[in-house]
Amino acid sequence: MRVPLTTRDFLDRAELVYGDRIGIVDEPDQPAPSLGDVTWREVARRGRALQAGLDALGVGAGERVAVVSHNAARLLEVLLAVPSSGRVAVPVNFRLSQEEVRYIVGHCGARVLMVDPELETALSGVPAEHKLIIGEEYEQLLRFDTEPVPWAEPDEDATATINYTSGTTARPKGVQMTHRNEWVNAVTFGLHMQVSDRDVYLHTLPMFHCNGWGLPYAMAGVGARQVVLRKVDGAEILRRVEQHGVTVMSGAPAVWNSVLDAAEQWDGEIPGRDRVRVIVAGAPPPSRTIARIEAELGWEFNQIYGLTETAPLLTVNRPRAEFDDLEPEERARRLSRAGVPALGTRLAISETGEVLAQGNTVLAGYWDNPDATGEALEGGWFHTGDGGTVDEGGYLTISDRKKDVIITGGENVSSIEVEDVVFSHPAVAEVAVIGVPDDKWGEMVTAIVVLAEGEQADEAGLIAHCRGKLAGYKVPKRVEFRDELARTATGKIQKFKLRESFWVDAGRSI
Ligand code: AMP
Repeated sequence: MRVPLTTRDFLDRAELVYGDRIGIVDEPDQPAPSLGDVTWREVARRGRALQAGLDALGVGAGERVAVVSHNAARLLEVLLAVPSSGRVAVPVNFRLSQEEVRYIVGHCGARVLMVDPELETALSGVPAEHKLIIGEEYEQLLRFDTEPVPWAEPDEDATATINYTSGTTARPKGVQMTHRNEWVNAVTFGLHMQVSDRDVYLHTLPMFHCNGWGLPYAMAGVGARQVVLRKVDGAEILRRVEQHGVTVMSGAPAVWNSVLDAAEQWDGEIPGRDRVRVIVAGAPPPSRTIARIEAELGWEFNQIYGLTETAPLLTVNRPRAEFDDLEPEERARRLSRAGVPALGTRLAISETGEVLAQGNTVLAGYWDNPDATGEALEGGWFHTGDGGTVDEGGYLTISDRKKDVIITGGENVSSIEVEDVVFSHPAVAEVAVIGVPDDKWGEMVTAIVVLAEGEQADEAGLIAHCRGKLAGYKVPKRVEFRDELARTATGKIQKFKLRESFWVDAGRSI
């Protein structure tokens, strides 16, 4: 027998098995009226009412429904219900400019656009056939008055979602995820993180980003409660962990650094000690951050690696039994690797050092962009664009984005490796290592540093700190200090912006 693997399964099971339980706790403090605590039965009922609303609008199966929103229960509802209703959900990054949102809405041909009230003015110029503000207008779309329609029965190979990747040079590309992609990602993720109905998941990751890594599906399938967090803030995360008994969170390294900062001011015992598991990805976590999460917060550190194009799960690094008795530094070093392939994923390293992947989480294609699809899937492997190595234990370590590798004096330098060493200096709050043009070296290893509040360090001191810990040619030749580093909504440092100022005079960019 073959039953389609669809996002519906997660919502159906949550309703059937955990209907009376609180499924979603909405953000209390938001511009739209908060939904408060919603049971899984109510989430499913509202989801079907949303389906009935789209039916009434004449928006048919396979049509796109775009949504631009900070984290909110209604955004979760859209992610769960729109694909289950046979339409395609297009969650858009809330930090994008009006022009970028206009491009995405036009490119995917969305007939419906839902907008966070906070973004109403900023996005007032984005046209859409049915544009509604999340709140009153959204609520009016939901049709509770019609006979409850059963869920549509989407095909597992139908597109469930389209997530646009941040294009730094070219236009953003729309990553088409099928129901099957999402299903396999969520179930495999749930298996490796051992999620259960005892878990409480706090949304510290923007839900638009790769559909919250597919965790909304994984958590719904096992009836875990999902707590919405609208804005990432270290102290607020600690408060919510305490208030809601949170057990699982996910996010980029920058999120955990903000929690570590807040923990220094926290009165009393850190909540969630020996209970919370954090899942880190999106950028390489510095080993100092890993060691501090475990020592200062008492939270279990887990790393995964993947891309929007892979749903995202490709590799996973969970503290295994063999790590239990290691010294904290060695344990952090082992956990700083991206991990081993998730069940059902195959990895390879190309001749040029690029990480290649095969598996059921790899995208179907880029929306309306066959050239990019062909390039990404050339030779039957997905090309990640990341450089990496695999050690004898089968663990993958990401060395750099292909375009971020520094070539100095003919040697390749992994900016990630250098960043890790610079970051191990206690005065450093943030660091990005880039190559800047140089007549002698071609590119010169340069560290751009933000100092921690009240801490001091100078160029010579930081360079001295790196000597002995890195091969000579990898040691930064120059250190510059900044007040902050530009980051994306998902916590990635925008290196291309940092590089711009140095390369502009060189008349070239590599
Ligand atoms: P995105 O599609 O926005 O999720 O970005 C995916 C990219 O984030 C990957 O290609 C990597 O460059 C980076 N990334 C994700 N997870 C990790 C990780 N665990 N370690 C290092 N880089 C990562």
